[in-house]
Amino acid sequence: MYKIIDGKLISSQIKDELKDEIAREGLKATLAVIQVGNDPASSVYVGNKKKACEYIGIGSRSFELPEETTEEELLKLIDELNADYEITGILVQLPVPKHIDDKKIINRISPLKDVDGFHPENVGNLCIGQDGFVSCTPAGIMELIRRSGIEVEGKRCVVVGRSNIVGKPMSFLLLAANGTVTICHSKTQDLKSICKQADILVVAINQPKMITSEYVKEGAVVIDVGIHRMDNGKLCGDVDFDDVKDHTEFITPVPGGVGPMTIAMLMVNCVRAARRNNGK
Ligand code: NDP
Repeated sequence: MYKIIDGKLISSQIKDELKDEIAREGLKATLAVIQVGNDPASSVYVGNKKKACEYIGIGSRSFELPEETTEEELLKLIDELNADYEITGILVQLPVPKHIDDKKIINRISPLKDVDGFHPENVGNLCIGQDGFVSCTPAGIMELIRRSGIEVEGKRCVVVGRSNIVGKPMSFLLLAANGTVTICHSKTQDLKSICKQADILVVAINQPKMITSEYVKEGAVVIDVGIHRMDNGKLCGDVDFDDVKDHTEFITPVPGGVGPMTIAMLMVNCVRAARRNNGK
């Protein structure tokens, strides 16, 4: 019988731990949240991030900028926030409008305030095993694995997807945990047979229900990062949950698996940034 990895429960445990930590240590933290334009999905994410800050006891300062904000204006705001001692973390909600180069924006945020873990310095630190901020979704997956008592060392791990914010950092985290890691992508040949060898299969491909039981080894751990709204209004992942579940030992549902962990780990990063800033 498979076990569900309950991301909703684990993420709320993490947030409660952080809330206690902040109160106990009297940490002072403020997250600057920048949104350019008013994409409805982005507004929901930003709202949830601000709510999480409020819950754990850190401040948030909102910058809701119009769609026509120039790249120069946005860079100038980031410079100001980098220099502002009260601001301990900076987050620019992606995607930004097309006339703004998101790489330039990410690169401008101080690596010490880069709570999303997207700055090349933080990505580099992850690759070479040095301390830094780790991208929240893969960090959340590692926490789900750890708190479910799943051992990574020596395991065959397959990550499907190689994006900068999920697939690549995920692979480095599994490697750092002594997994034997294979990364697959859209040009991978014979994806099924590679996935079928995985003890731990992480799927982040943005393809609704593509991963069926034909891709899954009996007794595998399956982590589904994808999130899609179906025609009937319900959410589904990149994994066909109903088809796959009985072949797994552990599986994350959608919703309620990886999704809630992303914000919880953002809060972990915010608290770490604050601790540094508070000299603790
Ligand atoms: P991207 O679209 O940036 O990357 C998708 C990756 O999957 C690419 O590397 C692509 O390969 C690969 N891919 C696409 N199609 C196939 C295929 N048929 N076979 C094998 N590989 C394929 O997506 P993200 O990494 O940003 O996100 C992945 C999913 O996770 C999305 O559904 C997204 O909504 C969700 N997500 C969820 C989060 C959460 O908090 N739960 C957070 C972030 C993302 P190639 O590089 O060759 O193009």
